[in-house]
Amino acid sequence: LMQLAVPLNFIGFIYREIRQGLTDIEQMFDLLDVKAEVIDSAHAAPLRIKAGKVEFRDVQFSYEPDRPILKGISFEVPAGKTVAIVGPSGAGKSTISRLLFRFYDVQSGSILIDGQDVREVTQESLRSSIGMVPQDTVLFNDTIAYNIRYGRIAASEEEVRRAAELAQITTFIEGLPEGYEAMVGERGLKLSGGEKQRVAIARTILKAPPILILDEATSALDTHTEQEIQSALDLVSRDRTTIVIAHRLSTVISADEIIVLKEGNIEERGTHAALLAQGGLYASMWDRQREATEAEERLRIARETD
Ligand code: ADP
Ligand code: MG
Repeated sequence: LMQLAVPLNFIGFIYREIRQGLTDIEQMFDLLDVKAEVIDSAHAAPLRIKAGKVEFRDVQFSYEPDRPILKGISFEVPAGKTVAIVGPSGAGKSTISRLLFRFYDVQSGSILIDGQDVREVTQESLRSSIGMVPQDTVLFNDTIAYNIRYGRIAASEEEVRRAAELAQITTFIEGLPEGYEAMVGERGLKLSGGEKQRVAIARTILKAPPILILDEATSALDTHTEQEIQSALDLVSRDRTTIVIAHRLSTVISADEIIVLKEGNIEERGTHAALLAQGGLYASMWDRQREATEAEERLRIARETD
């Protein structure tokens, strides 16, 4: 029996180590999706963040041979600026964030952070420098405090509370009988999509990464909830290099540059005003969404006056 106990213990140790290392990333990417072949290069050095500039240079990528997903993408996110990526579903938007995390390697071209190729730095340092507010936040079966503190295990109670405040979720937490000690997750209290997303924002505020990816998927939320979390998102991304993957265009108006991705190519790029004036794909997406939002708003008002 002793012989068996040791390896089991060791597996438990490995498991905890892996869990620690993954932090918030695991929520977005299916673990099984992560290819084992991405390994640190023999001379990998820790990523040294200076200003936090992100650069994609002529990136080509496919998951399977003969099915190109990104067909030569180049863009730059200057340090502290915000670039939004929009486009139809399946265009390759989330693939861009997976490549930045180096869950896959590009087939050609390169991805650089402050001039360092992501293939030349340790994966641990790369992933600890990037924060993600994912589409679907999965909460641990633990207290709400634990779920927030996961962004930085060593954070003090005061720091956890401060992060919750910035993420605008304190009113909700303090309304719970057990407050921060309330159990959440599958076997605990079920949180709404908007509440879970605010927990993820609080977590990211604690982590305070120099580079941020917001894969919003606010399509699941109504416009009212979306507006509430938008100010929290604005706070987190202020002065941080930010990539916003947006499904709702209302969240990208103030981006420094908007990239419109279609079938793996950059179809259009520019500021909100410039793209509207251009009258192309972005402008037609905008028109369609405005109609949908107005219809939703009319429905909400009708329901409220019932
Ligand atoms: P978006 O986020 O713009 O909706 P994605 O980047 O998630 O699009 O996906 C782009 C394309 O790549 C889609 O056609 C999708 O089906 C495909 N894809 C995504 N992940 C994988 C995978 N692990 N293996 C094969 N194809 C994939
Ligand atoms: Mg996506």
